[in-house]
Amino acid sequence: TNNSQSQDTIFALSTAQGKAGIAIIRISGPNASQAVKEMVLKQSLKKKFPIPRKATGRFIVHPITGEMLDHGLVLWFPDIAEFHIHGGTSVVRGVLDALGSIEGFRHAECGEFTHRAFDNDKLDLTEVEGIADLLNAETEAQRRLALRQAQGGLKHLYDTWRQQLIENMALVEAVIDFGEDENIEDEVLNQVNERIKHLVSIIQNHMNDNRRGEILRDGIHVTIMGPPNVGKSSFLNYLAQRQAAIVSPIPGTTRDVIEISLNIGGYPIIIGDTAGLRKSDDIIEMEGIIRAKNLILSAEIKICILSSVDIFNSKNNSLFNLDPMTYNAMDKNTILILNKTDLLNKTELSYLKEIFTEVVPTNYIFCLSCVTGEGIKEFLEFFVTSLRHKYDDSTSQVALITQARHREHLNECLKGLRNFLGRLQNDLVLAAEELRHATNALGKITGRVSVDEILNNISKDFTNEF
Ligand code: GDP
Ligand code: ZN
Repeated sequence: TNNSQSQDTIFALSTAQGKAGIAIIRISGPNASQAVKEMVLKQSLKKKFPIPRKATGRFIVHPITGEMLDHGLVLWFPDIAEFHIHGGTSVVRGVLDALGSIEGFRHAECGEFTHRAFDNDKLDLTEVEGIADLLNAETEAQRRLALRQAQGGLKHLYDTWRQQLIENMALVEAVIDFGEDENIEDEVLNQVNERIKHLVSIIQNHMNDNRRGEILRDGIHVTIMGPPNVGKSSFLNYLAQRQAAIVSPIPGTTRDVIEISLNIGGYPIIIGDTAGLRKSDDIIEMEGIIRAKNLILSAEIKICILSSVDIFNSKNNSLFNLDPMTYNAMDKNTILILNKTDLLNKTELSYLKEIFTEVVPTNYIFCLSCVTGEGIKEFLEFFVTSLRHKYDDSTSQVALITQARHREHLNECLKGLRNFLGRLQNDLVLAAEELRHATNALGKITGRVSVDEILNNISKDFTNEF
């Protein structure tokens, strides 16, 4: 925002366009009070200016013609006026036109209110990030996450902590500057020590979230693995309902990693189909297998697919013949899918399932067929439920860390607090310095670090005012 612009008084409808019971028109700028004086007080018998932050019912009139436009609520926040009026299009139009007739008033541009709100400290960086995420949210879970942040979930948390640090800082500084009575000094510092310890554990708790928020925001990485030709690509295609991966009967077709984004039950899933795991002499295939293994390692959820019919037919060996490469890639959280059940009968299948529970390290086994679709519904029900448990505890309203940036500064803050606790007994001045550092680290999360850059990127996306 350049300076001449931020001196203007601007106005806009801040509720959604279209028919609504109540429409809110917001006026912001150095002369915002003029709107109240000219459109509310002129005709009013009680010519008192509204008490700040208190809704007052008043008549709203045209500043020049004196024509009555509506009876609504008027709110005054220093520098911002709000008219809550009836939502009919003609009423809204009339009030907007009336505002435009006041000298020096103009309609706000796109994103301008958000810019100002931020400049006036009404929104913090995490809220602005939340609004941007809200605009970019592709799934319901991402939308909920972003909304909590846009509504100040993180801001509230970090501001509260920062406030506590500032208070304790004041105590430490008082001891440094005026400390004379050792008994009182000790008592104060003990108190500070206890409070900071408590805050350290609260911050640790907040950070101990398995990166749920960050993962939800970026998408949950799911990797499909297994030997060649078991139906990995077919399974991915079934989920995607389109031909995203190459399906073919030749083992080793999916040589590179294919990743696609899916919305499964409201969750953002980035699902990767990998090269079949097997020993190979083919250089390109080996490279594909290395990439597959890397993707498996970094996956948040692993799905292992095996061919039920192949395993069943290999049972004349002492055990079912399970390729060691696949076996080693599995762990207790791996979801195991026995595919191609259409090629086995019911008895064979239940026999296989029973035996298999014993030999694989996971408890999550699903039998299905990518050809008939049988069993896929049950798998999806389980899958979505486990996503909900793992990433999206909707019963809790706690805001989650959504960006690595937040985590870095929180770590910095924790480090400062630990150093503070360590130094408190022997060097109060240095300890205070650490406390200041920790306080600043929190400030960086909510503060004005390269704000213009962020805002400029975001306001491009705005179609409506918030
Ligand atoms: P990938 O190598 O593991 O990715 O396996 P593909 O998805 O390429 O499938 C290998 C072969 O198995 C193809 O001929 C598929 O049509 C076939 N196939 C996949 N799923 C099923 C299934 O559930 N039943 C049957 N009968 N064939 C399947
Ligand atoms: Zn494949």
